[in-house]
This record gives sequence, C-alpha cells and structure tokens, in this order.
Amino acid sequence: MDTRGSGYKSILDLVNVERSFEGFQAVKSVNLRIKQNEFFTIVGPSGSGKTTMLKMLAGMDQPTRGDIVLNGQSINSLAADQRPTCMVFQFLALFPHMTVGQNIEFPMKMRGESPEQRQETAHRLMAMVRLPEDYYGKSVMKCSGGERQRVAIARAFAYDPEILLFDEPLSAIDAKLRKTLQKELKELHRQSGKTFIYITHSLEEAMFMSDRIGVMCRGELVQVGTPEDIYMRPRNRFVAEFMGDTNIFDVRALPGGGWESKALPGVSLTLVPKDKELEGFVMVRPERMQVVLPDGPMPDNVIDCQVQDKFEMGARDQYELVFQHHPISLELPHGSLSEVTIGSTLRLGWNAADAVFVTE
Ligand code: ADP
Ligand code: MG
Repeated sequence: MDTRGSGYKSILDLVNVERSFEGFQAVKSVNLRIKQNEFFTIVGPSGSGKTTMLKMLAGMDQPTRGDIVLNGQSINSLAADQRPTCMVFQFLALFPHMTVGQNIEFPMKMRGESPEQRQETAHRLMAMVRLPEDYYGKSVMKCSGGERQRVAIARAFAYDPEILLFDEPLSAIDAKLRKTLQKELKELHRQSGKTFIYITHSLEEAMFMSDRIGVMCRGELVQVGTPEDIYMRPRNRFVAEFMGDTNIFDVRALPGGGWESKALPGVSLTLVPKDKELEGFVMVRPERMQVVLPDGPMPDNVIDCQVQDKFEMGARDQYELVFQHHPISLELPHGSLSEVTIGSTLRLGWNAADAVFVTE
C-alpha cells in the first residue's frame, strides 16, 4: 500500500480522447484525470461507449484523436502487453483446459519466473481472493461462476499491473454472490493500493464501490463526481434519471415571484434555482419527499396526491402516487405509514433545499 501521501497524484490523464468508427463517434472528446489508488467507475447505458473507453486504456484499441497519458507520458502508441494495465472481462478469458493454479500462474510463466516462485505467488493470490488452497490443482471447468471470477481477478493481479480495468465483471453473477464479490473487490482495492477503473451499468454497484463515478451518455462523459455528488447533485436530467428513481417537474419563473410547473397546475412552487435561470427542471428524490401531517412541519412545497400503489422493498416502502396525471414517487422506511389505502389522498411536500434545479 502506498503511504507516501501520493493519493491525489494523477496516474492517468485522458486529453480530448475520441474514438470514431467510420464517422460514428463512439467516444466524444473525453477529458478525465484518474488519481493514483482511485476506484473510478464508469456507468452508462448500453452502447454509451464504456467498453470502447476501457479498450483504449488497455491498449486493445487506439483513439482516433487525443492523448492517453500515463504518469505524465503519452502511451497512445504503446501496445497492450507493454502497458501497466490489465483487463478483467464480464465473460472470462480463462484457459478452460488449465487448472486454477496454471491460470493464475500464466502471467508469471510468461515473465519467466521459477515454478517455486510462481506457486508461492499463486497461493498468496488465491488466499487474497478467498479461493480454498486445494483449488490449486482443480480444473477451472469444475469451478462455479463466482469461483471462476475469483480466478480471473487473481490472474489479473498476477500481471502486477498498476491499473486494473474491469468491464462489468460481475454482471453475469447472481445477486447474492455479486454483493459478496463487490465487498471483496472493494477490500482488494483497499489492500492492494492499486488503481481500479471499473465499468458497470448498475447504479447501485457504482454507488457502493467507487471513490468517484463518471457517467457516460452517447459517447460523452456527462458528469464526474463522488457517488454523493452524482446522486444528489446531478448535472442534468439524464444523470438524475439514470442514477435512480426521481421526481422531475418542468418549471418556469412567474413574473411576480415564485415558480410554476405544467406538471403541477395551480401549485406555486418555491425553489432554489441557479442564478437568474427562468426555466428548467426541478428534481426531488423519492426519499426526499415528505408526508405532511396535520400537526407536523410544513415543507416549502406541498401537493395533494392520490396513492396508486405500494411496494414493500425490504427495509423501504415505495409508493406510486399521482398529482392529477403526473406520477409522483415516494420512498419511506418500511412501516412508516401504517394505514394507506390505494386511491386515498396523501399530502406530500419537499423543501426547496432538497430539490435540484437543472436547465437541461
Ligand atoms: P458500452 O460498452 O457502453 O455498451 P461500447 O463501447 O461497446 O458501449 O459501444 C459504443 C458504441 O460504439 C456502440 O454504438 C457500438 O455499436 C459502437 N462500436 C463499438 N465497437 C465498434 C466497432 N469495432 N465498430 C463499429 N462500431 C463499434
Ligand atoms: Mg460494454
């Protein structure tokens, strides 16, 4: 683990990086600085350019424009096997006819390390990814999906790269095991002190694992920030909607002060807009919506809604409501509202400070 206080040094800089395929821009002028030891996650819908980005970082593909700079030096022309990066894929490229040990030792064998040295490292890496010792001689074909994923991660570490690149490594694994592997990967990141660049299309996974998240949309990196930044202060509607459930209202300023929304006819709204903006959207996360009780505090904005449905989601209850025809979602800790019948009216509200104002 690097303790020299270099946690804020950048290891990788992307400068106007673009990738076009016959005129189609899969990645559009991306500028990004990744810090040493960072767990950086790229999220975005399918086809937004995530894999294309990662392949360029790995040296499996070249940018059509721009520079990829590693530790201050352009590595554009450096082949994949000469880069200090290693990629772990969703669908593993393990050698099926080899044992767990042979798979993990492969990179060390390529480097010409002695069998004793290889075996020692393989056992250390197996312990690190929590594979039982006696799996060393087991065929990878006889391992479960989760075990194979651990083998792949151990093998990636055997390359001893500075940067590990992960392309949706857990998306083919069932939910329960995925949670375990997420925790383990996070712990591996912490222990190893290496830089992780991780792709997922799961918002939850990104929020749980990352120091920072970059959101991609149609080849553009639309926002980069901490999980909290991205979730609570999305830059635009796309980010807000991609990063989980949200209530969105179009809004415009009223000449005499206050705001109105076409979605909420007859309601005068109180918001905290950006400087002098007269039109835009306001977003309120379902967990920031409050139920207004007769003798309780009065939030800045109040609307009377009809309850349409209720879903119990473990520790949370999710409510779908409508204000006239506009859907509203509300999320409360489980059991907060004991008696709510479908079709009944519920007075909801939110404080101006709990909403985000965006112009696009
Ligand atoms: P993601 O990983 O976010 O799902 P990709 O990076 O795989 O997205 O792809 C981004 C876009 O680039 C897609 O529209 C895809 O069809 C296109 N693309 C990717 N690779 C190629 C290629 N080799 N040739 C042509 N188009 C490609
Ligand atoms: Mg992909």
